[in-house]
Amino acid sequence: MFRINENYLKLKAGYLFPEIGRRVKAFTDANPDAQVIRLGIGDVTEPLPTAVTDAMKAAIDDLSNRDSFHGYGPEQGYSFLRDAIAAHDYQNRGVNVSADEIFVSDGSKCDTGNILDILGSDNKIAITDPVYPVYVDTNVMAGHTGPADANGRFDGLVYLPVTAENNFVADLPSESVDIIYLCYPNNPTGTVATRETLQKWVDYAQQNNSLIMYDAAYEAFISDDSIPRSIFEIEGAREVAIEFRSFSKSIGFTGVRCAFAVIPTELKVTASCGTVVSLHQLWNRRQSTKFNGASYVVQRGAAGAYTPEGRQQMKSLVDFYMTNAKLLREGLQSVGITVFGGEHAPYVWLQTPNGLSSWDFFDLLLSKGHLVGTPGSGFGAAGEGYFRLSAFNSRENVKTALERFKSVVQ
Ligand SMILES: *Cc1c(COP(=O)(O)O)cnc(C)c1O
Repeated sequence: MFRINENYLKLKAGYLFPEIGRRVKAFTDANPDAQVIRLGIGDVTEPLPTAVTDAMKAAIDDLSNRDSFHGYGPEQGYSFLRDAIAAHDYQNRGVNVSADEIFVSDGSKCDTGNILDILGSDNKIAITDPVYPVYVDTNVMAGHTGPADANGRFDGLVYLPVTAENNFVADLPSESVDIIYLCYPNNPTGTVATRETLQKWVDYAQQNNSLIMYDAAYEAFISDDSIPRSIFEIEGAREVAIEFRSFSKSIGFTGVRCAFAVIPTELKVTASCGTVVSLHQLWNRRQSTKFNGASYVVQRGAAGAYTPEGRQQMKSLVDFYMTNAKLLREGLQSVGITVFGGEHAPYVWLQTPNGLSSWDFFDLLLSKGHLVGTPGSGFGAAGEGYFRLSAFNSRENVKTALERFKSVVQ
């Protein structure tokens, strides 16, 4: 008899977005004329920059000619893209990352899950609470946890609450942890980390021989130069951190798929046999075996975002969503709602009014305002009493949503 990976049975059945879908469907079935506005799932809405689509069209023409045809590409990504990333995202900003430390992929979700392939199964893992659910579920699938408790917290993980009480800055774990997931600008809270906060984590990782998994998917939304865009701006980070970045949110690639991971050559660990092993080499081995590279057309498109026009268009796209975020922030504040985030991230994290639970507020907003957001408790127990609104929408929908939101809470 064959067996399954029974760790999957421990998962909380991806309950958040299916549950939202179920409640929205029940509502729209009962109210077929309601024009529901969705500010829930973090998917982009605006079309791709033309510098990107033009580059993709030219790449398709390349593929239509024998002389410029491309078959399998390098598993690590084409150098035209790795060079552009290294130059624009790092070196021009004074950050030491070279092109051969960049591994291009088809998404950060896959990268943050796949990276577990090269890590051991007995690491002590810390995550913030609330958190992007992928970090938790991939560790559950890999058998790194025990079962979940009634709050949905998995035995064996170290949860670091981030709430208004600690200003969304997690305390360092009291015990020694081996792997720490950090995401800044943060999904779901929309908050950012200062240089001092990140230095504290890098120092902790140095002292404890821990690994920081740094998810910078929302880096493009940072508008203040004093806020770090990369963990590698922090002294000592090259020995303790992996950085994940994605084109999904910055240039609207959620459906096109392109991302990258940065693994510095200094990141090394001693194996149980005593050999010092480079994570860069291990990941290279893993990718060469299990991955055949992101598509040529897609990588050409991503490289289009680094041309002068592409950079300008990316900025306009980011500015568009950040104007939505500002409208949401200020609109909610004007009716007395306490909001966080939304200044360097396309998410606004609000405190539910009148002490409502996250799900009760969800139901209220849906039934009275025909609005869909995401209950904070779906991202972790410490998200209870909070609610996430996404700025990824048309200006018109954001404005209509705000009017409806105000009429619900006033
Ligand atoms: C959207 C998002 C990503 C990007 O994932 P892709 O697979 O590259 O689309 C990564 N991390 C977080 C926290 C996200 O919200």
